[in-house]
Amino acid sequence: MPDSAKVPAKERAIAFVDLQAQRARIAPRIDAAIARVLAHGAFIMGPEVIELEKRLSQHCGAKHTVTCSSGTDALLMGLMARDVGRGDAVFVPSFTFAATAEVVVLAGATPVFVDVNPDTFNMDAASLNRAVAVARQTGLKPVCVIPVDLFGQPADIDAVNTVAAEHHLWVLNDAAQSYGATYGGKRLGVFGGATATSFYPTKPLGCYGDGGAIFTNDDELHRRLVQVRVHGQGRDRNETVRIGLTARIDSIQAAVLLEKLAIFDDECATRQALAARYDQALGDVVRTPVIADGSTSVWAQYTIRSPRRDRIVATLTAKQIRAEVYYPKPIHQQTPYRGFPVAGGGLPVTDQLAHEVVSLPLHPYLNTDDQDRVIAAVRAAVT
Ligand SMILES: *Cc1c(COP(=O)(O)O)cnc(C)c1O
Repeated sequence: MPDSAKVPAKERAIAFVDLQAQRARIAPRIDAAIARVLAHGAFIMGPEVIELEKRLSQHCGAKHTVTCSSGTDALLMGLMARDVGRGDAVFVPSFTFAATAEVVVLAGATPVFVDVNPDTFNMDAASLNRAVAVARQTGLKPVCVIPVDLFGQPADIDAVNTVAAEHHLWVLNDAAQSYGATYGGKRLGVFGGATATSFYPTKPLGCYGDGGAIFTNDDELHRRLVQVRVHGQGRDRNETVRIGLTARIDSIQAAVLLEKLAIFDDECATRQALAARYDQALGDVVRTPVIADGSTSVWAQYTIRSPRRDRIVATLTAKQIRAEVYYPKPIHQQTPYRGFPVAGGGLPVTDQLAHEVVSLPLHPYLNTDDQDRVIAAVRAAVT
């Protein structure tokens, strides 16, 4: 018997994400899938990669899926395939993971930071408009916007697309946290010019290493993405037509993802039920997440807002409950990004959220007894 089984449930540590519980459910299938790759030996672009791209396209509805080595590379491939570079402005939220802005700098362009909506934490279209004005004043050419579908919820896609259309911006969705979420009844992957996602192990759909994908309905973009993925390779390996990367996903990771995709919708339903339980139990004491009408979330994070955030974190930590603050320091305040422009009027919502948000444990294998302990701890901290 493992030690943990002897610890009373009241004192047991509660993980933020429990990948081992998921593994316990599908270990034999995953082990067999990995063994098949080891046996056939096509470690790069093997049959699992081709099959995964087919299945993901069926699942999200995108015409083309290009799998790749990470969510970061998926975003970078999108920018490279569009020849985004020096002198170009790319609009990104600051309330996000560093990769969203990082790829812009890697491509040689300039990130311009945009504020977010205080309820959904996603890009504020009015702030985007002000950011475009700032970019023009600075002598930059506005070319692209990267709305992030933060914490599992789609961005305000229609509002962002409207501003983007006005200024002829190409829209690259960062759905690294949100594969599977829906907007107006359709899954992310079919909106804007392209959608990037990540299969990092703790994302809603994750593999056992690094992985990612980029989705598009655009045939020409698809052709270029395939080139960028492998060193700008043209018709064959002797022809190089553009600057590219080594950005393929491993066959082993694709094999893992095929097994995880098979249980993914079921896991999302459990995440949704757990989120609803948190909403019910915490809505009177903290600001619970707001999901926009017509959208669904895959609950990469269940993020609450409270002026007593630091007390919540301290209380949970004392009770062995793991909570995480995403994001305590927005990107525009991080050293390498301080010199880049921000939207007119600044980023007041972003700055405020950094002091008030905390994400609670939520994963498909969280049992309701443990969730009740989290709820009790949060309530104790704020009342
Ligand atoms: C995780 C994440 C990424 C990067 O994905 P990786 O696979 O880790 O490279 C990009 N954007 C956001 C919003 C993320 O959360």
